[in-house]
Amino acid sequence: MARPPIEVVILGTSSAAPTVRRGLSGTVLIREGETVLFDCGEGTQFRMLAAEVPRRKFHHIFITHLHGDHIFGLGGLISSLNLAQREYPLHVWGPRGVRRFIEFLVNFPRRTRLGFKIDIHEFAPGYEGVICESKEWTVTSLPLDHTIPSMGYRFEEHELPGRFDGTKADELGVPFGPERGILQRGEAITLENGRTVTPEELVGEARPGRIVSYCTDTAFTDTARKLAQNADLLIHEATYGDEFLEMAIDRKHSTIRQAATIAKDAEVRKFVATHFSTRYDGPLLRDLKTEGREVFPDLILAKDLLRVEVHDRDDA
Ligand SMILES: [Zn+2]
Ligand SMILES: [Zn+2]
Repeated sequence: MARPPIEVVILGTSSAAPTVRRGLSGTVLIREGETVLFDCGEGTQFRMLAAEVPRRKFHHIFITHLHGDHIFGLGGLISSLNLAQREYPLHVWGPRGVRRFIEFLVNFPRRTRLGFKIDIHEFAPGYEGVICESKEWTVTSLPLDHTIPSMGYRFEEHELPGRFDGTKADELGVPFGPERGILQRGEAITLENGRTVTPEELVGEARPGRIVSYCTDTAFTDTARKLAQNADLLIHEATYGDEFLEMAIDRKHSTIRQAATIAKDAEVRKFVATHFSTRYDGPLLRDLKTEGREVFPDLILAKDLLRVEVHDRDDA
């Protein structure tokens, strides 16, 4: 049976400052009731409420870099989690400096006492590799190319065991009971009639986990392509259109054409462009879409609260 899709919600799509229609960077990934947040720009907690993001299992925040448009929402969010009587720890992962910022946020206001622990995990500039591994998924990071150290993230589920062929098991006379579990664990069984049944006969190949890559803020760089390689969903910044290519290079951001090139080269299944300069509000956003789609025809132009589903590859 197909498992429920991973849901990704783009909470805000504006670069640097909000506009009337668009908020700042923040993206949630919801998987089997668990919520993971990437970046936390100002207003993120409002958008999480608007998107009805579940908070029952919310343990991890991944911060890409320490520009205000990606972190200024942390104070309000932490404060609200505290008021909601949160008890279990919150893990915040990000570049060096995130600890000092959070400690300031938590310690500056008078007469507040946090009822939960914040575990902060800092990484030195240029860090490459696994940063967090849960029972069911792994997050790896590679450095992006921005004006300050910026971490790109790749969220990847662990492989799933192959599908069990129930119809064939019935035909072979494998009883309903522990025998089926033994086969699914990869061991052979012997039926009452003496016939040996091996797992290869009934269990398909292991199924790859789903991959979501999050690359912002960054100039056009091959590390983003590596993070995105073969992903089911890539979220990549696209601050400018072609006319501001020089500015993109200068400020270490990407044009939407460059972002679409990363998506194409990495052969991703879905690509969402976001983090648009405030100058692209309204109809001008259509021009961005046109430029990006010249490279990646199925490009999805993010808008605030856009929801994208990530299915298993064989259910898609
Ligand atoms: Zn930014
Ligand atoms: Zn930035």
